[in-house]
Amino acid sequence: MELIFEKSVENRGCEILPPSDVPVIKIENRYLRQNDLHLPEMSETDISRHYTELAKRTYGINNGFYPLGSCTMKYNPKINEEIAKFPGFSNVHPLQPVHTVQGCLEVIKLAEKYLCEITGMNSMTFQPAAGAHGEFTGLKLIRAYHEERKDNNRNEIIVPDSAHGTNPASAAMAGFSVINISSTKDGYVDLEELKKAVGENTAGFMLTNPNTVGLFDKNILEITQIVHDAGGLCYYDGANLNPIMGIARPGDMGFDVVHLNLHKTFSTPHGGGGPGGGPVGCKSILKKYLPAPRVIEREEAFDKYDLASAGELSIGRVKEFYGNFLVIVKALTYILTLGGDGLKEASENAVLNANYMMNQLKDTYHIPFAGPCMHEFVMSLEELKKETKVTALDIAKSLLDYGIHPPTMYFPLIVHEALMLEPTETESKETLDQVIAVFKKVYEDALNNPEVLTGTPKKTPIGRPDEVTAARNPMLRYIF
Ligand SMILES: *Cc1c(COP(=O)(O)O)cnc(C)c1O
Repeated sequence: MELIFEKSVENRGCEILPPSDVPVIKIENRYLRQNDLHLPEMSETDISRHYTELAKRTYGINNGFYPLGSCTMKYNPKINEEIAKFPGFSNVHPLQPVHTVQGCLEVIKLAEKYLCEITGMNSMTFQPAAGAHGEFTGLKLIRAYHEERKDNNRNEIIVPDSAHGTNPASAAMAGFSVINISSTKDGYVDLEELKKAVGENTAGFMLTNPNTVGLFDKNILEITQIVHDAGGLCYYDGANLNPIMGIARPGDMGFDVVHLNLHKTFSTPHGGGGPGGGPVGCKSILKKYLPAPRVIEREEAFDKYDLASAGELSIGRVKEFYGNFLVIVKALTYILTLGGDGLKEASENAVLNANYMMNQLKDTYHIPFAGPCMHEFVMSLEELKKETKVTALDIAKSLLDYGIHPPTMYFPLIVHEALMLEPTETESKETLDQVIAVFKKVYEDALNNPEVLTGTPKKTPIGRPDEVTAARNPMLRYIF
């Protein structure tokens, strides 16, 4: 497909502005550009066709199955967008007098109330813009807690190897040393390793739950007890709350801090770089460290307090104002349209769909961790690769020719040749059955005539880009 600059024809354009009826002001030469701006010159029809063509090539949940593990590519009901578009939500400024934005403040307070109810926490900040940003914020709360207690040796965060990769990265960003502990061979936190790792330097422990192999840690109460007994705090990575919302609460399991990914579990579209939401919930003991501004509910009206009145213990600000406000609106819309029972049902269906697929595929593909799984599961193609040289990448790429978005590949790192599948709750049994049939067909091809898989996909505009070069030397600009 030609780029828009390549389609440009000199002096073609679509003038949409009327001729100027005010005097022309001459701008001083030093403020003027010295070279022409490179803008494509096209007719309105051609511009429209260009972008429609691009839109057709975009793949999303509205096109088909999207089992990208650890990402919760759910169908996001359109009502969320309708509500977020209300001028009262989208045409406001955070510095407006509070009496003019009572509804917006109420949205933030209500979302805090419901999400605290769902997670078993007491307070929440919506400032963080994404999951990893939430982790960073939550860890800052943990640091502030130890600092206030003058417990200055606590500079270690313990992270199991089944954690999401952002966990150790955020801990390092927040200035902690990261202590890795290995998992048992059935995929859970190794309690003996944990007991050895905790001590007087332990600031906290981060658990991704369900972990990256899709398992809910069955020893979770014992884990939080071990960490608390050693004087550390417990952090719950709740990016993937999809299998447990309405069913189990991190707060009840002993966790002190949790972050959620509104752009996963709570139905804000993601991909393409956001905007997202990574709110952080905490227990009462950590409330005084939360970022500001915050919304408060007075008897007669909603109000706010800013950083200056937040108290010296606040960690400050991790993003401007209240975070990505419209993302909160969408999350609240989702929560209110589903209701408590609906959220629980969504979780149950997410778990049901994943277990159904896992069981249908387990006689074909190798599933290294026996279920039941939560909302996702991991397959390993290590054996297949040994027998046939076909890799997880080949399988993933050939799915594209069947119109299926590939699962997450080569993640988690503790599984070789991994494919991680998350069929979200909104998929019907018919869709799952079709996809299962494709997965089986591709596996058979790998065994019987592996050459069909080489060089796939064949039906997409781009086949196998050089991913290293694309990541290391991205060309983000058209070179004239
Ligand atoms: C997606 C994810 C994250 C990171 O979230 P971002 O919004 O991409 O920063 C963290 N932890 C887990 C378990 C996740 O699935």
